[in-house]
Amino acid sequence: PRSTADYQAMDAAHHWHPFTDTADLAAKGARVITSAQGVWLTDSEGARIMDGMSGLWCVNVGYGREEIVEAVTRQLRQLPYYNTFFQCTHPAAAEFSEALAQVAPPHMNRVFFTNSGSESNDTVFRMARVYWDCMGQPSKKIFIGRHNGYHGSTAAAASLGGMSGMHAQSGLPFPGFAHIDQPYWYGEGRDTGLSPEEFGLARARQLEAKIDELGEDNVAAFIAEPIQGAGGVIIPPESYWPEIARICRERNILLVADEVICGFGRTGSWWGSETYGVTPDLMPIAKGMTSGYQPMGGVLISDRVAGPVMEKAGEFYHGYTYSGHPAAAAAGLASLRILQEEKLVERVRDVLAPKLATLWGGLADHPMVGETRTRGFLGAIELAKNPATGERFGEEVGAGARCRDLCVANGLVMRAVGDTMILCPPFVITEDEMDDMAARARKTLDDLADQLTR
Ligand code: PLP
Repeated sequence: PRSTADYQAMDAAHHWHPFTDTADLAAKGARVITSAQGVWLTDSEGARIMDGMSGLWCVNVGYGREEIVEAVTRQLRQLPYYNTFFQCTHPAAAEFSEALAQVAPPHMNRVFFTNSGSESNDTVFRMARVYWDCMGQPSKKIFIGRHNGYHGSTAAAASLGGMSGMHAQSGLPFPGFAHIDQPYWYGEGRDTGLSPEEFGLARARQLEAKIDELGEDNVAAFIAEPIQGAGGVIIPPESYWPEIARICRERNILLVADEVICGFGRTGSWWGSETYGVTPDLMPIAKGMTSGYQPMGGVLISDRVAGPVMEKAGEFYHGYTYSGHPAAAAAGLASLRILQEEKLVERVRDVLAPKLATLWGGLADHPMVGETRTRGFLGAIELAKNPATGERFGEEVGAGARCRDLCVANGLVMRAVGDTMILCPPFVITEDEMDDMAARARKTLDDLADQLTR
């Protein structure tokens, strides 16, 4: 291996990083991660850092799982590649599709394989339009998403999402996409005079108003993450999802739950939509699908949608060279078996979620903290200049970015979304490691207080 400086130099010269501030990167140099085991990363300087983000919300079964490595290796030896186009399949794709249907909600019995969450959402876009064509309602074409939602970086996925920076850079959203506000109580609800539950209802009813504005006959689907992840772990009030489901049902528009983060146990049940008691028509998945050991995504499809499209359209003119890739399917199946055999979804529900709620609740009275919130094994800390009033630090302070850097220096990865610190650890973390994680978080907040009041 070469030195850290060598890797940083080649990287700086030739690697254009996704979602990375180039000035910041040039100033600090890239962190070079060289290996990982369990919940711990090791960097090129030998530092051990706890991965409180499961990579990018994906390594749910933890690093170093030999079962997955072996399954992928075996598959690569046997059949490294074959496609799933033109009446072909292979054992890995067939077995993984059956296993997925067994853990999917009962009304979803079919999967369309992709390679990422972004591709899954582009697939949703095309599939929903084909569905309405098949139903004799070709005018139903518009998609409604949410401001600050994230559904990926491809053109349709970024249009479905509501990230203003992404939209501004490339002239998105495309025509045919509309957005409503997010159910973000701490950031947008507290000053409305409404209770959290009233606020949740009000935000959900924006969907009804938007459908009225656009005309029911023109709207294909509503898409949302059960809990918005990249937007800052936005946990909706309990009133929100049932109202959204009611509106979609009564207005005859498809409900798409983007389960790319929430799926595969993150919220304490298999699906985030299950946690909130709703039954979506389509569920894009990725990330936890293989625990990140291979790139893979998919769309879980309800019988309502699959039936007419498969019968009436016959062929869906859509697919990827690597749809159902054998090595990815083998990784997915092995990861799924680990979730089942080690009862990790139940562990999230019964052990990890309650403990995280207690630990993060314990940070809520820190002088840098306006609010902490958790649901399942997702958490957020809202940094505040004045916790009593919720007054934020100014953007020029960069409190979130400072906190993120201090956190890594304290041996823990948390991500900053503005001044919101977010957390999404692997399901195999021990309870002692969780105590350690909370201690590192508290130390980080103390360090931030020192830095900002110095
Ligand atoms: N949907 C959600 C909810 C996500 O969080 C992400 C990625 O963070 C995506 C879609 C896009 O997935 P990918 O990065 O695999 O394309």
